Amino acid sequence: MKIFTCKMCGKEFESEANHAYYCTDCRAERQRDRSRAYNAKKKNNEKTNNIGSSAICEKCGKEYVRAGGNQRVCENCRLSVRKKNNQKPHDEYVSRNYDVIKVYVKKGERDRIKQMAAEFNVSVNELVNYGIDLAIHEFIEYYGTKPSKTDEKET
Ligand SMILES: [Zn+2]
Ligand SMILES: [Zn+2]
Repeated sequence: MKIFTCKMCGKEFESEANHAYYCTDCRAERQRDRSRAYNAKKKNNEKTNNIGSSAICEKCGKEYVRAGGNQRVCENCRLSVRKKNNQKPHDEYVSRNYDVIKVYVKKGERDRIKQMAAEFNVSVNELVNYGIDLAIHEFIEYYGTKPSKTDEKET
């Protein structure tokens, strides 16, 4: 038996080992710390290591590549669930019957357009569509029946 001084608590303790740095109490404490750190690391790895690995979608059964650690369904199913949750009946009707064009207008212009539409008792959509028809009509008058670029391509 040798006498050592614990590096952690400074207590003297006996051990049969040639080298001992920590008393039994502190050794147990360190062991607990290590396994806590190990578990935390393992948990973290499980989360991140999954990314990029393939998995089977819980919904459609297809194989997919995980984009996130906690992902359980494929991208398609994820999007379709999202869509279903967000889409109101009106939106479904609109997406069946209309295409959407995103138009940027100058700051403040949106309010002016809204106000104009209200004054003429039409919806903003009707007003804009009317404007598009007018613009196309104007362009055709100005450029002829086809835009000049298309003409160049065809010849
Ligand atoms: Zn100790
Ligand atoms: Zn799926």
